[in-house]
Amino acid sequence: MLSTALIVDNDIRYTKQLKLELENSLDLNCTLTSDYEAAESVTDLNFDIYLIRRNKENIRLINILTSHSKLVIILTNSDDDKVIEEIVSYGATDYIVTSNRNDKIDINVIKRIMKNSTFKVMVVDDSELVLKKLSYVLDSQNLKNIGFLDGEEAWSYLNNPDSDKIDLVIVDYKMPKMNGYELTLKIRSKFNIEHLPILILSAVDNPNTISKFLRAGANDYIPKPFVHEEFIARVSNTLSMLSLFNEVKNMANTDYLTGLNNRIYFYSTVPKILIRSKRNKEPLSIVMIDIDNFKLLNDKYGHSVGDKALKQVFIILKESVRESDECIRFGGEEFLIVLPNCPHYKAMEVMQKATKNISSSILTVDDKIALNITISSGVTSHIDELDKMIACADAYMYKAKEKGKNLVYSGE
Ligand code: GH3
Ligand code: MG
Ligand code: MG
Repeated sequence: MLSTALIVDNDIRYTKQLKLELENSLDLNCTLTSDYEAAESVTDLNFDIYLIRRNKENIRLINILTSHSKLVIILTNSDDDKVIEEIVSYGATDYIVTSNRNDKIDINVIKRIMKNSTFKVMVVDDSELVLKKLSYVLDSQNLKNIGFLDGEEAWSYLNNPDSDKIDLVIVDYKMPKMNGYELTLKIRSKFNIEHLPILILSAVDNPNTISKFLRAGANDYIPKPFVHEEFIARVSNTLSMLSLFNEVKNMANTDYLTGLNNRIYFYSTVPKILIRSKRNKEPLSIVMIDIDNFKLLNDKYGHSVGDKALKQVFIILKESVRESDECIRFGGEEFLIVLPNCPHYKAMEVMQKATKNISSSILTVDDKIALNITISSGVTSHIDELDKMIACADAYMYKAKEKGKNLVYSGE
């Protein structure tokens, strides 16, 4: 993760604003200096990222830094084609156009570079030279990367559970053993287009080649020989799409109030857990939980207090189970816990302890309202179809309510 930045710029007003923005929004510790001489005196120039104003005095500094593979962002007043061409020739990471007309500081470039360190890119090309060149470009973008000289090796890396997670594959078309097209088909047989994007890198010798790749599941195509800027732009676009997809997926799968996973997540994940348990003949328990007399609490203190109380109850429950257990907000004040590899007696023990934990805690809301909340739950460990198991846990939970609430019930 990037934590320190050096800003070399004589536009004092702009730099101060930039420093403030980077420190507040991105938690980057910034050092300011107005010119090259001063910059040279900054100890060892050991910063994670450099933001340098494009001017004659700074060219030497920029060259030294880029030749040492440092992350360098050029600050420029002009986005004239000629200026941009010159900036690209420096081999810097990126540039920011700082317009005096517009007071808003654009830190998206830095945000992207910081985020890039969370991605790992796989490059597959039978040329050592291309691998070296691409690794240099990806490094300059703060992207972790790994290169393979043939498709077979790359495929076995992707299949090895001990390998690092790969977020993007860039693959050459023509390769001995397994070519890029075959590798794309193989990858798509296992990884969806939105989970593992693929970019094809190849000289177009046949106009049908591109469509063939896209139909096989590649996300985009980079013509060879590639232009540095275009390559970076296509890689960045693909990774932004991946981030956006993950964000939307997280939002769709998460309950806004509690931050717990919701029913959408439940139905996309738990069936697979159940299948695995059945296959491995492992126990699995499901618990349905409902807060007691919650309507009364809402009526007495209002919905906002109810919301905060809900959140606290969910926190205690989550802390009562293993990290690998799935806690889901199933309905209003009901939620469900799936405990893989947990036999019935153990699930009962866990829930009895959690029930006691909650009833013996005084929950404080807004620093003044002290609440005593209880829960009722039903536990089943009788492996069946998922919906039947849920219905069973639900029925047991209602039995717990009938028996006086604040308890765990199971008919098993
Ligand atoms: P019981 O012990 O039988 O479960 O009684 P109860 O009052 O908890 O049950 P009931 O199902 O009648 O009412 C559930 C209440 O939970 C009604 C609803 O206002 C409240 N509730 C559901 N979701 C939320 C929420 O997100 N926030 C708040 N504050 N209240 C919620
Ligand atoms: Mg209730
Ligand atoms: Mg209810």
